[in-house]
Amino acid sequence: MCLFCKIVSNEIPANKVYEDDFVLAFLDIAPVSHGHTLVIPKKHYTNMEEIDNDDLCRVITVVKKIGQSLKDNLGIAGYNIQANNNTVAGQVVPHLHFHLIPRIKDDGLQLWSGHSYKDGETEEILSKIKIF
Ligand code: AMP
Ligand code: ZN
Repeated sequence: MCLFCKIVSNEIPANKVYEDDFVLAFLDIAPVSHGHTLVIPKKHYTNMEEIDNDDLCRVITVVKKIGQSLKDNLGIAGYNIQANNNTVAGQVVPHLHFHLIPRIKDDGLQLWSGHSYKDGETEEILSKIKIF
């Protein structure tokens, strides 16, 4: 059983923020910022490729609710929503989860750095990934 499934079944304790029949949210044990919360489906799905749309809707609905609670109650102006999807993207726990990371002005967190497309690269990538 994976680590987060053990939290779902109460084999491992967690500081729960929200719970219903399908979704659980709890404080990250090593917070990037105060209030850093993880939202997971109770059913084990390794990643976004596996989760069914009904469960995904339930999970993302709770992400929205908790984001609002963080904003209303922590006095923050915003937060990042992040899912590290697969090992190469930094996923360590193989149970799909969304990070909610409260942000305050000038907190210095650098979550990614952007770059520019070179000539022709935009068309090339679009021709591969466009799905409409
Ligand atoms: P990821 O790298 O996206 O797989 O993130 C996994 C997250 O789970 C990390 O931010 C960890 O700090 C967090 N984590 C690991 N073990 C626990 C635990 N027992 N309770 C709460 N959070 C945990
Ligand atoms: Zn699991």
